Amino acid sequence: MSIQQNLLRIKTELPENVTLVAVSKTKPVSDLQEAYSAGQRVFGENKIQEMTQKHEALPKDIAWHMIGHVQRNKVKYMAPYVSLVHGVDSLRLLKEINKQAAKHERTIDCLLQVHIAEESTKFGLDEAELLELISSDALASLSNIRILGLMGMATFTDNEDQVRREFKHLKTLFDRAATVLDGLEIVSMGMSGDYKLAISEGSTMVRIGSSIFGTRNT
Ligand SMILES: *Cc1c(COP(=O)(O)O)cnc(C)c1O
Repeated sequence: MSIQQNLLRIKTELPENVTLVAVSKTKPVSDLQEAYSAGQRVFGENKIQEMTQKHEALPKDIAWHMIGHVQRNKVKYMAPYVSLVHGVDSLRLLKEINKQAAKHERTIDCLLQVHIAEESTKFGLDEAELLELISSDALASLSNIRILGLMGMATFTDNEDQVRREFKHLKTLFDRAATVLDGLEIVSMGMSGDYKLAISEGSTMVRIGSSIFGTRNT
């Protein structure tokens, strides 16, 4: 199956309110160009340097999503153009994004990453940290960022019940957060292996890589 065929097939499976982020990390610009030609305009990368190179090489109407863990000292490289930062998990990082956004007279949209998986290796806020952050005065004072929702990754397992439970948990946290913060609209959950489950649990944004571009050799 070609990239174009994969994209078309996946798109027919997505409800209208679910945004597809084509996760193109490690893939060459020619692959992204093929997806672009098939109409895809939202791409996700997990390394700022790689995303910036691809941003420079490709058409400017692409929305670039940073889906990986963000190092504060690299925020400046994506600040001029990034469309959505999924992996925000600290006030310190938000402050840096805010500062760099201000330099470019922009408002940068962000999602707060919540730790929902069983594995301890995955980044993200726990429930208490999330609730503390969203109700903090410090957050309210950052005028060049906007929190649009939450992002999470389920445990990498064949156990569907567990994955479903973790997605349900994220959606519950989203609903709670939405009673504290105005303007929340994005629940970013679901990857190649679990996006159908994620959608049935309320995802509004899926991040799909290998089912579009094929397996990654890293
Ligand atoms: C790589 C990655 C994806 C896409 O994974 P696939 O299994 O290839 O669809 C989604 N989200 C994040 C955060 C990733 O790092």
